Amino acid sequence: MIFGNIFFLLVEKNIRKTHLSVYGDEMKRESGAPRTRLIGEVADLDARAQTRLRVLNCIRETGEASRTDIAAALKLSPATVTFVTSGLMAGELIEEVSSTDTPDTMKRGRPRVALRLTKDRFHVAGIKIARETMSILILDFNGREVAHLDVQLPQPRMEPAALVLAIRDGVTTACADLPGGLDKLAGISIGLAGQVDAGEKFVHWSSSLTHRNIDLGPLLSEHLPCAAFVENDANLAAKAEQLFGEARGLNNFLVVTVEHGVGLGIVLNGRLFRGERGCGAEFGHTKVALHGAECQCGQQGCLEAYVGSYALLRRADAAMGTGAVKTVRALVQRATEGDASARKVLDEAGQIFGMGLSNLINLFDPERIILSGAGHRIAHLHSDAVLEQVRNSVVNVDAPLPEIRVHHWDDLMWARGAAAMGIEQVSALKVKGLAQ
Ligand SMILES: [Zn+2]
Repeated sequence: MIFGNIFFLLVEKNIRKTHLSVYGDEMKRESGAPRTRLIGEVADLDARAQTRLRVLNCIRETGEASRTDIAAALKLSPATVTFVTSGLMAGELIEEVSSTDTPDTMKRGRPRVALRLTKDRFHVAGIKIARETMSILILDFNGREVAHLDVQLPQPRMEPAALVLAIRDGVTTACADLPGGLDKLAGISIGLAGQVDAGEKFVHWSSSLTHRNIDLGPLLSEHLPCAAFVENDANLAAKAEQLFGEARGLNNFLVVTVEHGVGLGIVLNGRLFRGERGCGAEFGHTKVALHGAECQCGQQGCLEAYVGSYALLRRADAAMGTGAVKTVRALVQRATEGDASARKVLDEAGQIFGMGLSNLINLFDPERIILSGAGHRIAHLHSDAVLEQVRNSVVNVDAPLPEIRVHHWDDLMWARGAAAMGIEQVSALKVKGLAQ
């Protein structure tokens, strides 16, 4: 368990074979030391570095492990473990700790020497860029939260350089009161909405940036104090679900995120699927109507042009009068109070979304689909009517449909996913950089 127990079980429904569970308001940290399980998405490591990474992750997962434990868990020879751990110790990634209080400590008449990640040696920042706000979460290498800062951005779409400078300023402020300050920061992992080629640090398009086709890598290198990584934010949500949330133990699942736009994280065989150019998984821009509503991407008929927050407010303006409601929360409130026009706007969005969900099931046949977002943004997207539509639109087979779960979370959870991704990337860089 990493960031804690999940408080859930608000509602559970079975509608024939479509199974829906609605999960709690947010994940809470359990007491004690949270541990971060990493997935191993990192490519471009030789065999020796891969082994170092496996040993490092084994120690991270267990908290403390003896060399014997590691050899048994990873099926490595004792000599290999001794060699690898001495390299990790030289790089200050791990340290020895003499355990004197465990029952088996004195079995052989001497203290058992365990290994753990070096305490408070490195920090990693996870950042979620949202509309006009930026959440910054600083974790240590064990996955413990050491600082959190929310920053107001001057506008929803920013010049790329201005956004990077805002990130630099935010990270500097978040680390200011930490022992070691910015010097301890080993990586910054940034989540952006849009089409992001994570490997190339290239942003094809993002609703947070004023320009298309931005090679973010040079800007990050120039202005940020340490290694930086950028990733599509729905992929970070999928990573967070896999590490901390509703997808633990699953190999094939989808995470649909609903906020200003609609995102999708695809995990196949345990790994994120990004597509060849980093542009895959654009569920929000799958087409649901010929010559349909105008999307923020510049095209017409995209799913999120009916389902995203901006689309709901646009429909509400048309149906209820301009400015009748200014937020999705207010629209939902009006519908709850019995306003038929408000109800119709939400129901129409639900029907389009149900069409999209059934398309996803027909394409991927996942174990589970997780709907992720703030409660008021997604309640109308998993109504009985929506699920009925999904059930009627999925290819008929004599097998249960994938489970659909709802997970309400806040921006901090995205930042946790970003930070976990950052720990993974920094771990790879560190083991790669160790001397033979
Ligand atoms: Zn679009």
